Amino acid sequence: MRIGLGKDVHRLVEGRSLILGGVVIPSSFGEDGHSDGDVLIHAVADAILGALGMDDIGHIWPDTDPALEGLDSAVIAREAGKLAAGRIENIDTIITLEKPKIEPYRKAIRDNLAALLGIPSSKLNIKAKTAEGLGPIGEGKAIAAEAIALLRD
Ligand code: MG
Repeated sequence: MRIGLGKDVHRLVEGRSLILGGVVIPSSFGEDGHSDGDVLIHAVADAILGALGMDDIGHIWPDTDPALEGLDSAVIAREAGKLAAGRIENIDTIITLEKPKIEPYRKAIRDNLAALLGIPSSKLNIKAKTAEGLGPIGEGKAIAAEAIALLRD
């Protein structure tokens, strides 16, 4: 087996869409970023690339490339899924943000991201928690995601 770890942080700003696993969550603020800022997809893709022994997503989709501005991160998820096709045993994730509550959208996020990766939803777990009001995430200024992926060698 091979294991990979991924994490990502984005600033939260007014007027951007809050997108997690390709699902738009109703909110007046969202992730800032060169791409669509989907912090969950970025963490999951980095976990998969890590398990494959590859460079991180910034090497493949650089945030300095003008052609990638506003990139739909679904592209990243699909590509990561293809690179690990048939080898993903399971992926576990944690999203950390203060609000809104993710629970009502957790199943939709799981099903959508699993489909993008080309795996059954049973192999992807989505958890969400707050930062208990502490630090920039607790103040609602940022969102973070962490992911760990287990692949067959
Ligand atoms: Mg990112």
